[in-house]
Amino acid sequence: MLRDETSTLRLTLPAAPPLPVPGCGECARLDRARAVAGRAGDRSRVSDCNVLISLHPHAGQ
Ligand SMILES: [Zn+2]
Repeated sequence: MLRDETSTLRLTLPAAPPLPVPGCGECARLDRARAVAGRAGDRSRVSDCNVLISLHPHAGQ
């Protein structure tokens, strides 16, 4: 599995942005920040928010 180049590529280039977890205030905050950055054309910040949302830990996961 460690040498599966297809999986690595998918992790590097996600097909769709991560969705905020319902009920999580931090995810909601990041989702709003991502929307603001998107409207401002700040793709770097959008990418940052995507990473933070996808990595945000939640109980039960
Ligand atoms: Zn969250």
